[in-house]
Amino acid sequence: MRHSRIHLRLVVGILTVLIIVGFTDFESKPESVERAATNTAPQQTTPQLQATMDALTGPQSTVGATRDNKVAPTSTIQSVGSGDSLERIFRRAGFSPRQLAAITSTRLGKQLREIFPGQTMTFTSNGDQLNEFSFHKNRLESLHFTFKDDGSVVGETRTAHAHKTQVFQHGIIQESLFLTSQALNIPDGITMRLAQIFQWDIDFVLDIRPGDEFFVLYEELFLDGERIGFGDILAADFINRGKLVSSVLFTDKTGVKDYFDLEGVSMRKAFLRAPVEFSRVSSSFNLRRKHPLYNTVRPHRGIDYAAPTGTPILAAGDGKVTTASRNAPNGRYVVIKHGEQFVTKYLHLSKFARGVRKGKRVKQGQVIGYVGATGWATGPHLHYEFLVNGVHKNPRTVPLPQASPVAKQELAYFKNQAKRHRLLFEALKKHPPVAMGQ
Ligand SMILES: [Zn+2]
Repeated sequence: MRHSRIHLRLVVGILTVLIIVGFTDFESKPESVERAATNTAPQQTTPQLQATMDALTGPQSTVGATRDNKVAPTSTIQSVGSGDSLERIFRRAGFSPRQLAAITSTRLGKQLREIFPGQTMTFTSNGDQLNEFSFHKNRLESLHFTFKDDGSVVGETRTAHAHKTQVFQHGIIQESLFLTSQALNIPDGITMRLAQIFQWDIDFVLDIRPGDEFFVLYEELFLDGERIGFGDILAADFINRGKLVSSVLFTDKTGVKDYFDLEGVSMRKAFLRAPVEFSRVSSSFNLRRKHPLYNTVRPHRGIDYAAPTGTPILAAGDGKVTTASRNAPNGRYVVIKHGEQFVTKYLHLSKFARGVRKGKRVKQGQVIGYVGATGWATGPHLHYEFLVNGVHKNPRTVPLPQASPVAKQELAYFKNQAKRHRLLFEALKKHPPVAMGQ
């Protein structure tokens, strides 16, 4: 199994990085341009640095020896606890409701109405005199407020730039898609998206086999040398039972992103291959174990998806519910009509999703019910049927109607953009770079 990273992981002393970031890695969008000039530069303390200090000196300690107007400003960090309020946090930090009101009355201050446990706030002060207040919404965004000499407050948002890198990975599936991805250090979120890109072509619940392969080029976001998230999958290939399916991300001129095959035809189709929430089934699914079999009394004209009771069942395509009912053999079941030709059936449900009843319109991927073992079933599973003009077809192999291609006027643009991603992708497939770092 080859795996490669095309970025370099920098190992830098953590304090050095934090201090540099604290001073330089912010892009300020001032609400008003003016900022109060001060003789002493405020000590900006990042939450991480403060955490380090807390570990050394005890929680919520202040940096600086005394609360005295003549010494350098001191910083203190407060974390939002569950059920916490701004008033309580200000009181805890030693500041008054009047100082809080001066902040919340600014235009930007209105955003402080929504605070969540785990978020942090930094107070910078000379004694009781609050100079600066920062609310850290998340790792990248904070609201920063400065008290001016006349007592007024100026607010600005500060955005730290995450460093984007592209990661190329090649996996060969042995036990499950998730296990293979995890072994390659691919985030589960990327694995889910990978499966979503191909969900109209590949049944990820039943059709994945040991030896299936994938190639994926995706973006990772780094801050302070730490992975804080991921961006888009730029291109991906999946080889399922020897059959190659390719895709590439395309952003149209209005900014809408979607995945297309190399001819510019959307990966989306009128029907999903597997109408169950894949991640709930596959994350615990081991390919080396045999699929459990269920005895059915009637001749079998559908596919069974063994899944835990309560696993969400998805409408395979847009359509109208013609039946949401219960009988002895089917248990709770749903029938959906999709246009004139197609009908899908979902049997043995433990319950219907809210609002799913006869006559209701449903969207592709919408949850219509939950896996169960009602009716003639020996264990929890979804029995799924797919009919074309009244004739049962195998939903895993039936040709599916295509969704819309890239708009004609965008096709040249598509080819151009797709080509760039694919050229890089193909080059990486041929010559994967030597893995660096982890
Ligand atoms: Zn069945």
